[in-house]
Amino acid sequence: MRKSSDPDLELRGKLIRGLGSLREMLPGSFVERKRACGRPNCHCADGKNLHSQFQISVLVDGKPKALNIPAELAVKVREKIEMRRHFDSAAATICRLNLKRFLKEKETR
Ligand SMILES: [Zn+2]
Repeated sequence: MRKSSDPDLELRGKLIRGLGSLREMLPGSFVERKRACGRPNCHCADGKNLHSQFQISVLVDGKPKALNIPAELAVKVREKIEMRRHFDSAAATICRLNLKRFLKEKETR
């Protein structure tokens, strides 16, 4: 049996190859806040049609920050933050597979 037909190795290879597509990932979490701007004649004055304020909530040098995101970048930023989740999930799976392989290898020594 060739090693490459091992389903664990195939999965690991697939995950590793997929990491390149996540290189634009961003840290933190995406936040959408609703707020009134305070202008009495604005559509938000009724308290229902509020403005959206998009932010990245993130640690910068260990301190929590809320960074404002222009509305036109909100979709992209949300995707990039989502990439981090995929990255973490792939890393966890790769580590799980490697641990399993390591323990197996250890036993057969
Ligand atoms: Zn307003």
